[in-house]
Amino acid sequence: MMRTGERLSDDCLEVKPSEVRLDISSLCQLRCVLCPVAHRDGQAFIGRGVLPLSSFREFIDANPGVRTLEIGSSGEIFLNRDLPAMLRYAHDKGVKIQIDQGSNLNDASPEALEALVKYGVSILKVSIDGATQETYEKYRVGGDLRKVLGNVRAINGHKKRHGSVLPRLILQFIPFGHNEHEIGRIIVMSKALGMEIYFKINVFDEHLPLRDHTLLTKLIGYSDTSSFFRKTGMIYMRHVCLQLWRSPQVSWDGRLLGCSHNVHGVFAQDALGGRFAQEVNNERMRYARMMHLGTVPGREDIPCTSCEVFADYRKYDQWLTPDEIRQAMDRPDPYAHTIG
Ligand code: SF4
Repeated sequence: MMRTGERLSDDCLEVKPSEVRLDISSLCQLRCVLCPVAHRDGQAFIGRGVLPLSSFREFIDANPGVRTLEIGSSGEIFLNRDLPAMLRYAHDKGVKIQIDQGSNLNDASPEALEALVKYGVSILKVSIDGATQETYEKYRVGGDLRKVLGNVRAINGHKKRHGSVLPRLILQFIPFGHNEHEIGRIIVMSKALGMEIYFKINVFDEHLPLRDHTLLTKLIGYSDTSSFFRKTGMIYMRHVCLQLWRSPQVSWDGRLLGCSHNVHGVFAQDALGGRFAQEVNNERMRYARMMHLGTVPGREDIPCTSCEVFADYRKYDQWLTPDEIRQAMDRPDPYAHTIG
């Protein structure tokens, strides 16, 4: 049982998270080559749709302990037309909004671009995997780099007009074999756009692999999941599993998914509104947490049992520790790496 005012029970099985991942759109207009949802046959499971504004408001009102919402989604957030109204509502209620999961930023209304600044969104991460259209569209199929950069500049214009440093803009670049020659150029471009740069590792190692690992290793200390493991002794996706505690994922249709990587099954069919507080500690969520602590075996009805990340825990006999979980509750993303 949890004591009043605590966010984590002594046995690390129950939480009262101050952050939730609320997917506001699974719609997307691009066909990214290794889309993390589609590539793992998750499209049918996630489905296509947007979270209604009424559900967004109800979630905030029914969960006063939730002070941060990550709305970066399985799709593209700017395709939810209610985004400006959502940002305004969260701002009026004192709830911090971040878009750290990323956006392709190809199609955003002028109103939405200004709302990001006006309502103080803390972070906007933008996927830009190429410094030229030719390279960019090889991965972001259907994307238009010119429109993305125009939207970044529009946000910068609003920041200037409103005298705001928010949102903190992060350029996310996934280095592949076809874009590694533009790493130097993208660093220069990020500086010109007032963006920090974040190099995200391609977790599908066997697809579009780097040809030369030297530069990326020099920049961030590793270049793929294997070298990350050699350097840190940890599984690269470990921080995602910590979302079960610090920032549980709710799908656009209200299903409780636990983490942003899950396309295998649900922990609850409806975790919107006031249902969230109960479902986040239901028997299946607690069992999944025990699995990650290594105290119980996998169970067929728990999504993690079919997940390739959990297979690595078993392979390396490496489990989450109570200390790591406690730290994660206070520190949002222990493995984030940006170059300012
Ligand atoms: S094992 Fe997979 S599904 Fe379970 S929390 Fe970790 S990444 Fe998510």
